[in-house]
Amino acid sequence: MAGNNGLSEKVHERGGRMTRQCRAVLDALASVDMHPTAAEVYEIVRETVPDISQGTVYRNLRRLVELGYAQELDYGPGASHFDASVESHCHARCTNCSKIIDLDIDSSLAPCLKEAQAAAKGWQISDQRIEFEGLCPECSEVNKSE
Ligand SMILES: [Zn+2]
Ligand SMILES: [Zn+2]
Repeated sequence: MAGNNGLSEKVHERGGRMTRQCRAVLDALASVDMHPTAAEVYEIVRETVPDISQGTVYRNLRRLVELGYAQELDYGPGASHFDASVESHCHARCTNCSKIIDLDIDSSLAPCLKEAQAAAKGWQISDQRIEFEGLCPECSEVNKSE
């Protein structure tokens, strides 16, 4: 089916077995709400699995994203951030320190998806990603004192 490449494979694989290392990476990601970068995930995983390699962590992060257990936030400058929450939700990103937080405002923005579906003729719109930019409390304090 056009536009559906690999989807059934993913769904099939999703029900499949997860390796111990892959599980450790997912647990590490799910244990924090800071939306860590791959390097930060590696640091967290090492606390429970000291001998895991950076390559293994990075590879399993990719795999988790492919399987739909995690999402990669690859917008904005700098390294991608990762999120164990795969439900569609909004983020705010600090333009100074790249900190990302979740915003609990999904329902008010839900119509966007329908409007996008209507506007994008012939497309199957499956998700929306909304990110707000600004300064986190710490960074706006720093700016104030300057
Ligand atoms: Zn900041
Ligand atoms: Zn999030």
